[in-house]
Amino acid sequence: MKSQGHVSTRNTHDVIVIGGGSAGYAAARTARDAGADVAIVDHGPLGGLCILRGCMPSKAILRSAEVAALLRRAKEFGLSPVSTRADLPAIVDRKDRLVREFADYRIQQLRDPSFTLYQSQAVFRSPHEIVVGETILSSGSFILATGSRPDEVPIPGLAQAGYFTSDTILDLRTKPDSLIVLGGGSVALELGQFFARLGTRVTILQRGRTLLSEMDEDVGRALEAALIDEGIEVVTGVQLLRVTCNERKKTVWAMKDGRERSYAGEDILQALGRRPNIEGLHLDLAEVTVDSGRIVVDGAMRTSQPHIYAVGDVNDVTPIVHLAIQQGEIAAYNVTHPDRPAKELDHRLDAEVVFTDPQVAVVGLNDAACHAGKIPFLTASYPFADHGKALCLGASHGFVKLFCAPTTGELLGAQIIGPEAGELIHELIAVMYYHGTAADLLRMPHYHPTLAEIVTYPAESIVEQLDMR
Ligand SMILES: Cc1cc2nc3c(=O)[nH]c(=O)nc-3n(C[C@H](O)[C@H](O)[C@H](O)COP(=O)(O)OP(=O)(O)OC[C@H]3O[C@@H](n4cnc5c(N)ncnc54)[C@H](O)[C@@H]3O)c2cc1C
Repeated sequence: MKSQGHVSTRNTHDVIVIGGGSAGYAAARTARDAGADVAIVDHGPLGGLCILRGCMPSKAILRSAEVAALLRRAKEFGLSPVSTRADLPAIVDRKDRLVREFADYRIQQLRDPSFTLYQSQAVFRSPHEIVVGETILSSGSFILATGSRPDEVPIPGLAQAGYFTSDTILDLRTKPDSLIVLGGGSVALELGQFFARLGTRVTILQRGRTLLSEMDEDVGRALEAALIDEGIEVVTGVQLLRVTCNERKKTVWAMKDGRERSYAGEDILQALGRRPNIEGLHLDLAEVTVDSGRIVVDGAMRTSQPHIYAVGDVNDVTPIVHLAIQQGEIAAYNVTHPDRPAKELDHRLDAEVVFTDPQVAVVGLNDAACHAGKIPFLTASYPFADHGKALCLGASHGFVKLFCAPTTGELLGAQIIGPEAGELIHELIAVMYYHGTAADLLRMPHYHPTLAEIVTYPAESIVEQLDMR
């Protein structure tokens, strides 16, 4: 065993949760509510990614860009043109104020006397013991929830040129004149559009054939069209080669359509993904299996060690907050109810929202998943460009697409790209939760004129397809 410095105290707890972010806090609260003596270990800063550097700060700043974009369209709505100049320090200050409030509340929850909070790095010294500072903690059950960090990607010259990640760009107080965004996932697109709307010239370089390459191609293409309309340069199907720089600009060299091309900008946002935070935990001493940097878990969130669970970004199953919370709750239930059948993660209602404008929101199966799983389906879509309320709002990009079972019409999945997609998807999640059908969507009353009533059009088309069979 490796030496871990001077250790003076020994404590035992029923359950030890390592990491007090969204997944860890959900696990700790669930285990505590089941009557367990719970310790939370977090080296800080306390608050977790969602609050400190993820969902909440990004959504706070995106709101400023949305307002700016709408103000710029004043003339279209019969208003005198308004001149907007983004004050990035003021936008960042507003974000910081909100984040502080959210973080204070989370810290208060973590410091609740019903938990024992250790503010220290956790390091395993055996499968049943960790070292936190000068204390050894032992337990019969551990829940790992240490989150993720921006991945370091081996592109020659990138580290030397310097780049932002989502962790660092959220605090930027001077807007770059131009920004090269590496990646075409949600973080890349949300932050890329934010800076474009502040007046930065933005180029997005995406390796996949379409943006949001894990979703169906028509979704990525519709979003690409909307971003291009706003003046963002979107380049898909690129292979990043190297980065060079001088005092004035950074240049990303890439292969595109068989030719080497260059894309220059003042700064680079590297948004090529995140990797689990497992360094320093000494998972080898806990005898937990790690595969390609990921902790292997089963549906019950259990690792290769039956008494050690891993939840949230650290297992890289679905790095999304509400699913991290669900995983934390499942793991804590399984830890505290060993004599009952284990609860398992159910992916049927997995959903994701991308907070670009237009927003993207998906739930359940899509075209690619149905084809890959040889799952028969009926599908129908309807464009926002033909929907009265969307036209009144001046938000006509995108569509709603439904996937239903061909015999019953049960809703299997849905994709929305368009205004308020992140809100609209919840009606479809609710219908899927209750195993509802396209006919149910048609029968349910929808107020007129609302964005929500758009779902009745593809539902009607699916009911017609069912009637014709
Ligand atoms: C820019 C951005 C925007 C995002 N927006 C959204 C969104 O809109 N919606 C959404 O659903 N998801 C979003 N996400 C993803 C979401 O933030 C994460 O999936 C989620 O926060 C992960 O929670 P977690 O509990 O797994 O990890 P974290 O919240 O990161 O918690 C991990 C905790 O572990 C602690 N820790 C780490 N290592 C150790 C150690 N060795 N010892 C002790 N403590 C340790 C850390 O201090 C931290 O508090 C976004 C992510 C980013 C980067």
